[in-house]
Amino acid sequence: MSLNNLPTNPMNDPVYLPDLGRDELTTLILGWDQPRYRAVQLWEWLYHRKVDSFDRMYTLPERMRQRLAAETVLTRLELVQELHSSDGETSKYLFKLPDGQLIETVLMSYDGVRRTACISTQAGCAMGCVFCATGQMGFARNLSHGEIVEQALHMARILEADGERLSNVVLMGMGEPFHNYENSLNTIRVLTDETGLNIGQRHITVSTVGLVPAIYQFAEEELQVKLAISLHAATDEERTSLLPINKRWPLNDLLAAVRAYIAKTGRRVTFEWASIAGENDTAKQAHSLGNLLVGLHCHVNLIPLNPTSGYDGKPANPHHLNQFVNIVESYGIPCTVRVRRGIDIHAGCGQLKAALAGLQHSE
Ligand code: SAH
Ligand code: SF4
Repeated sequence: MSLNNLPTNPMNDPVYLPDLGRDELTTLILGWDQPRYRAVQLWEWLYHRKVDSFDRMYTLPERMRQRLAAETVLTRLELVQELHSSDGETSKYLFKLPDGQLIETVLMSYDGVRRTACISTQAGCAMGCVFCATGQMGFARNLSHGEIVEQALHMARILEADGERLSNVVLMGMGEPFHNYENSLNTIRVLTDETGLNIGQRHITVSTVGLVPAIYQFAEEELQVKLAISLHAATDEERTSLLPINKRWPLNDLLAAVRAYIAKTGRRVTFEWASIAGENDTAKQAHSLGNLLVGLHCHVNLIPLNPTSGYDGKPANPHHLNQFVNIVESYGIPCTVRVRRGIDIHAGCGQLKAALAGLQHSE
């Protein structure tokens, strides 16, 4: 090993607190010869009170705060830009990580009550879906669980400053959550912890492009979290042309995993379908989809395609969307069209692509 490749000495690196689960945080604090309840207090300061500095943790002894400040860090996310859509309902936050990676988080309000954070699980994405801006940029790295949790924490702080509360979280930002499975699952555990952020499991959605082994694994987690599957096509030929991962796990395998998930959990699954004019918005495609899903405990969500620079497809028009909805519903499958959000700030599904230049261009 050359000198340049020597691993950094972990003893010298400050501990990034959001990377620790409850048990790990307790271990750290007990290791400092502090009583267990100090770890409980620290956890509450981090995730219930959501303070952003050690100085404000006034129930902790001065010496413990000093040690925390010397040996640990509260944040790794540096906010470098925020954009607010003209409808006033969607905001996008661009964060820089210490290694220079850029990630995005979107905050949306629905129905005047729901406040939803759409968080990223990876910098970039390895799945290469042709119409997705994140797929077009390629894969940089997995986010650590702290880097994922901290996005939600940041959104919760912004809302609480306005007297509001973060009610929902969707793991639907940049990246494929099931390609970063453990960190995504640990994130869900922290988000739902009742002594912390306390977000109801049913208010969390994980969206996957269809990593079949992970769907089987997820079925065993005994969670009430919602699962969404990005389908987009009802034949292998069409799906492979849009989603390269379909070569590895074609529709038969995917549907078998989804059936097993529903049988195990009893939960309804959402299928997402980015509707592309002339591509997958025809009556024929709607019938294929109906035939594929008939009898399954599911729901179909159509998302009119959002524009991205690397793909020249257009969104389906309202007439075709309506026709599609009616045909799918004639198979007894509920089907809705998702409201497009934040398109003017490139915060819509599949538009997240962390490039400052691109953002400045779009302003
Ligand atoms: N990687 C996960 C979650 C992030 S993508 C997944 O693929 O499911 C979130 C959703 O946005 C997915 O359903 C994805 O297919 C969809 N999407 C990607 N690009 C899009 C675009 N340009 N227009 C509309 N939806 C898009
Ligand atoms: Fe990755 Fe999802 Fe985009 Fe596909 S749609 S490239 S899986 S983020």
